[in-house]
Amino acid sequence: MENTKNNATKLSELGEFGLIDYLTKNIKLRHKQTIKGVGDDAAILKFGTKNIVVTTDLLTEGVHFDLIYFPLKHLGYKAVVVNLSDIYAMNASPKQITVSIAISSKFSLEAVDQLYQGIYLACEKYNIDLIGGDTTSSLTGLTISITAIGEIEKEKITYRNGAKENNVICVSGDLGSAYLGLQLLEREKMVFKTNPNAKPKFDGYDYILERQLKPEARKDIIEFLAINHIVPTAMIDVSDGLSSELLHICKQSDVGCKIFEDKIPFSPIAKDMAAELNIDPTVCALNGGEDYELLFTISLDDYNKIKNDPNITPIGHITEKSLGLNLIARDGTEVPLKAQGWNSFNNEK
Ligand code: ADP
Ligand code: MG
Repeated sequence: MENTKNNATKLSELGEFGLIDYLTKNIKLRHKQTIKGVGDDAAILKFGTKNIVVTTDLLTEGVHFDLIYFPLKHLGYKAVVVNLSDIYAMNASPKQITVSIAISSKFSLEAVDQLYQGIYLACEKYNIDLIGGDTTSSLTGLTISITAIGEIEKEKITYRNGAKENNVICVSGDLGSAYLGLQLLEREKMVFKTNPNAKPKFDGYDYILERQLKPEARKDIIEFLAINHIVPTAMIDVSDGLSSELLHICKQSDVGCKIFEDKIPFSPIAKDMAAELNIDPTVCALNGGEDYELLFTISLDDYNKIKNDPNITPIGHITEKSLGLNLIARDGTEVPLKAQGWNSFNNEK
């Protein structure tokens, strides 16, 4: 790793995942109750016969959201949902959250109230108890940190590391929409900056805006898997883009994969927006992120149980490690997959 003149290493040289690896590589687990620590969507703790699932996520103003176009109620809702998504990604059921906020003096009581209306709405929708948190002041804006706690039966725990050769790779819903929603919001923000009287052009694009501003976690998919007696061999939620998530599954499972471009699910509205913005929708799915869909692998024996479900799309299969990670493009060419997910250390501030 290259050092700068004063001997300090820039965080951008490691990237987010490199930094987490560096900080956690020498962790020593001291309790037998810690079944799984760092390295998956959530940790697993075993107390008596109960398996408890814990995850935490932090959202910072200016990095994860821009309050120019992010309504505070939606932000509160999204902050809860992104945590629940990590609990579902373990095949578990979320039960409680804690909410911690750092807030600057530019926010009024009414503004914080809006944020909490969104938080309580998500709790109602997903049947979650808000059990605590912390409140402090901030010099720079709003930061929200939420921890979600869930429960799971031992037999159902699904890590990122169980994918096996010939497993079918499946994804829920559609991909790329949240990123395209963000691009639309950014475009209209630029228009507004140059001409505050211009009316934003959002007509017909509600779906992708909602995917960015008010995403849902795939509780329904976890229920579907349970009803159909499917325990995926590996699972992760799509927060950083399909490429990055496949990389996590393949690296941890010690396998390769082959996915097919023409199988990646898109909404028609996302395709329209991609065409309008002159962006390749496949790139949005691979590198966009924030779709909060579930990416999972199942054994061939379970394929018949999912093949007719409109909410689940098989997009490829797991291969042996030496074949690497590949996308078969529409024209039949094989393109190696790289993680180009969002990296918060790329932009120096
Ligand atoms: P996700 O995208 O599913 O939320 P992350 O990529 O944020 O997962 O985190 C990957 C793993 O690293 C998780 O197990 C998480 O708990 C852990 N992790 C992230 N940041 C830190 C940190 N600063 N210290 C210790 N563990 C961390
Ligand atoms: Mg995750």
